[in-house]
Amino acid sequence: MIDDNFLNEYESLIKLTERPSRYIGEEFGSYDKNFDKVKGKFLFAFPDKYEIGISNFGHKIIYDLINKKDEFLCDRMYAPDKDYLNLLEKNHKSLYALETKRKPIEFDVVGFGLQYEMSYTTVLKMLEMSDIPIFSKERENFHPIIVAGGPSVSNPAPMEPFIDAFVIGDGEDVNIELLDMVVKLKGSARKDILKEISNIEGIYVPLLAKKTNKRIAKLEFNNHPTLSPIPHFASVHDRAVIELRRGCARLCRFCQASHINLPVRERKKEDIVELTKQYVKNTGYDEYSLLSLSSNDHCQIEDILKELNCHFKGSGINVSLPSQRADKFSLELAALMNQEKRATVTIAPEAGSERMRNIINKNLSEEQIINATISCIENGWNKIKYYFVIGLPFETYDDLEQIPGLIEKVNLKCREKGLKYPQITCSISVFVPKPHTPFQWARQNSISEIEEKINFLRKLKDKIKNVRFNFHNPKMSQLEAFYSRGDINVSKFIYEMYKKGGYLESWDENLNIDLYYEVEKILNFDIEALATKEYDNDFKLPWDNINYGVDKSWLWSEYEKARNAVSTVPCEVRCNDCGVCRNLKTSKVLSK
Ligand code: SF4
Repeated sequence: MIDDNFLNEYESLIKLTERPSRYIGEEFGSYDKNFDKVKGKFLFAFPDKYEIGISNFGHKIIYDLINKKDEFLCDRMYAPDKDYLNLLEKNHKSLYALETKRKPIEFDVVGFGLQYEMSYTTVLKMLEMSDIPIFSKERENFHPIIVAGGPSVSNPAPMEPFIDAFVIGDGEDVNIELLDMVVKLKGSARKDILKEISNIEGIYVPLLAKKTNKRIAKLEFNNHPTLSPIPHFASVHDRAVIELRRGCARLCRFCQASHINLPVRERKKEDIVELTKQYVKNTGYDEYSLLSLSSNDHCQIEDILKELNCHFKGSGINVSLPSQRADKFSLELAALMNQEKRATVTIAPEAGSERMRNIINKNLSEEQIINATISCIENGWNKIKYYFVIGLPFETYDDLEQIPGLIEKVNLKCREKGLKYPQITCSISVFVPKPHTPFQWARQNSISEIEEKINFLRKLKDKIKNVRFNFHNPKMSQLEAFYSRGDINVSKFIYEMYKKGGYLESWDENLNIDLYYEVEKILNFDIEALATKEYDNDFKLPWDNINYGVDKSWLWSEYEKARNAVSTVPCEVRCNDCGVCRNLKTSKVLSK
């Protein structure tokens, strides 16, 4: 039941918004806990629109785990879209938690999920709209502890002045320990609380700036949700999501997710099957997705699909594997996924040439990519989506030419086999040098270099009828690099952008590039210089005090191997002694 006070305060404003259902909560699958009867209150704050946030798998896990504890409560807050934000500001209303309708200031901990750097200004605006001081040093004892987790905290430096503590690594156990400790220390001085929580493994407190090891969670049946809030309207991923495995042993050299989530941990087949059955039954979804950075790398993927296909046969419930390796794409697997509906199949060659794929350690031959594509077409898929990255280190125009070249070869194979040409979409992003990867030292291409490459590809593409190229905005990618590699000085830039109205900037329509250039001038920054700078091995990186376990020397040796197009075998095949298992006293977990 929505409380009367809330309705009196907000109802008339919500009614004026484009999508009121974003702001009312009470979704099927949400918890309904009594705010006044629990000891600890955690507010998960997602600095993006409702429909993006509610699909985020990480936040579903934290929400479920905290709420499973009788003594705690976890509520959610998403960034209001601009129409509602303006209404709230005009009427001097603060943000509120979606379920309890309480103000953020009433919670013990407010945790931001930082999925991408372009959400930084949104975090600051959400703090302001929550009546919480923007700067950590200005917060009083009664203010909630502001934490942040997610992939972007791999370099916390640019957000350090605004966040009290960062959660490094998996959030399953650490958020509960954190909430527990904050509740126990209630009434203590803020700096004492921060000092204490800095002793929790996986918590980095900027005030103390201690070297921090990431936290690693075990993937068990009980720490995976089987129900989560179902939005009132279609969200980005309207399906049940079951996590197969975490981490990726392929170690693509540009991929941050692969390196910061090591070692690979697989869920047991039995757990996956049971979780899927329960999740689908509890939510009523007609599609389930088996989530992983590389879904078909799971040791028992075929057995899992067989068992689930058998269970859901004739029910109209479909499976999707969001990210698949082309070299593991077997006919049997294609057939297993093809049981009910033929949707788009996604393959990530990442680079057009084999040379370039060796440089990035993708280790996929052209034949493997073509064969996987043909297998899909033969099994009824006629929509193929390829992912490519351009502007990669050591890339040449010969490498680029082979992106459309690959598609022409797929078409040729279709002709030979008498198959109809598929509809192909190539999603082409721009390389961003990310912290904790072998390419963290590499330069990003300048905007003009990227524009030249895009024009080159567009001309080649015009000759092929069944393909569409979608290019990621190179200016946005440059800003992403600027924030990703920035040091604490970049916080001044973020603050200025926020003051000038930067908000929900990962949305093209909200990104005001001119504003960036204006702030660049005012603060005397050089965005392109930071993004395009190549670092030496001995350069002190702003994220050196954050330890994801991988030895820096190993990352550098991988960068050197890339220079010579030498590949590294996946750690499932042979341990490469990257340092993770030794440094963090852990080991990979394969399901068989
Ligand atoms: S130490 Fe070996 S097994 Fe462990 S993550 Fe690194 S490469 Fe894999």
